[in-house]
Amino acid sequence: MKVDWLIVGAGFTGAVLAERIASQLEKKVLVVDQRDHIGGNAYDHYDENGVLIHRYGPHIFHTNSRKVWDYLSQFTEWRPYYHRVLAVVEGRRVPVPFNLNSLYALFPPRQAERLEEKLVCTYGFGTKVPILKLQQTEDKDLRFLAGYIYHHVFYSYTLKQWGLKPEELDPSVTGRVPVYISRDDRYFQDTYQAMPKQGYTAMFQRMLRHKNIKVLLNTDYREVVEEVKFDRMIYTGPIDAFFDHMYGPLPYRSLRFVFEYQEVAQAQEVGTVNYPNEHAFTRITEFKHLTGQKHPGSTVAVEYPQAHEPGQTIPYYPIPREENSSLYNLYRKEAERLKQTVFFAGRLADYRYYNMDQAVARALKLAGDLV
Ligand code: FAD
Ligand code: UDP
Repeated sequence: MKVDWLIVGAGFTGAVLAERIASQLEKKVLVVDQRDHIGGNAYDHYDENGVLIHRYGPHIFHTNSRKVWDYLSQFTEWRPYYHRVLAVVEGRRVPVPFNLNSLYALFPPRQAERLEEKLVCTYGFGTKVPILKLQQTEDKDLRFLAGYIYHHVFYSYTLKQWGLKPEELDPSVTGRVPVYISRDDRYFQDTYQAMPKQGYTAMFQRMLRHKNIKVLLNTDYREVVEEVKFDRMIYTGPIDAFFDHMYGPLPYRSLRFVFEYQEVAQAQEVGTVNYPNEHAFTRITEFKHLTGQKHPGSTVAVEYPQAHEPGQTIPYYPIPREENSSLYNLYRKEAERLKQTVFFAGRLADYRYYNMDQAVARALKLAGDLV
């Protein structure tokens, strides 16, 4: 078999690049994925009870990028969806990101009013303040509040999720869910927030449906790399695995999902409920909120974080912290030596905590640079 490009991975990164190369450069592409389906971690399918679920964890699409939105809109219609999350704090369910509504739900009205006034005066209404920044405040009341939120919302959740304390990770990690001085209970404030109307897998099918694209599933690229003739390659798997872990394994964090079908139309009041303090799991997501599916029953996914063992578990998250960036940089230097023939991109190959839209933006940028 002879193609122009071999692409390893049929997730967002691989699918966008395959689509661009096939349709814009008019080159022949073979996409290989070791899994038995396309879509990477965004893959969705109907479970045995007929409920549309996300096998690798709940995926909610949101972006501020008009370019990414317009690009994906060629392959899907959308269902508007604003994700809402409640966290169980001292037995109450309060909005996360922690906001003014959370404040009033947890504190007596006079105290909440004083804290609100101080937050608004210090940072301004509508501002987002990462917890690690709020902790630096000089004000006694705000320091109390910062300590409260750190302790009840971030500390144990982060220990469970990463096996690390918040300050042992890059500040951007907890900065994804900043304290929000607002009454807006949505998890994201992006301009575009929606779910693909027929699901992610249907969108990927349309992206990859092109005469210049062939897809080979159930195949590790190493099984075919000697047999397929290709000029250039794009690799979207873990970068350390590509180089046989020559500098040692890059740390990733894994998860175990437990899917539970319940014979109720609605299992919980919002898409996701976080359990920062109780239980070994971090959160429970009910898919029907995300997908809008009508069904008499409902399936939820319970997320149990776990250590990643190469070859045994799925490397879901790169772990953003300085020592890991240094190790990643060693691999990146190896990758640069191959830069005319092998291109590395994606959450695992760039070792970056990309959301879907960032993976798409990264792939579109790379596609634009290819000739
Ligand atoms: P992937 O989707 O991981 O695709 C890589 C593909 O490469 C995989 O299919 C893999 O099987 C294949 N592969 C690897 N090695 C080989 C090999 N040797 N041979 C053949 N194939 C190989 N983003 C959001 O925007 N919103 C969300 O709500 C959201 N929720 C998430 C929840 C979880 C639990 C996780 C883990 C991620 C979430 N994300 C979310 C992030 C999103 O999953 C990623 O941004 C996106 O999937 C990255 O796409 P990718 O193509 O780079 O990687
Ligand atoms: N986080 C937390 N408590 C929460 C929600 C988030 O401590 O209730 C922290 C935790 O460290 C988590 C990070 O913020 O890993 C980012 O959260 P996000 O929901 O963006 O994580 P993802 O959906 O990518 O797993």
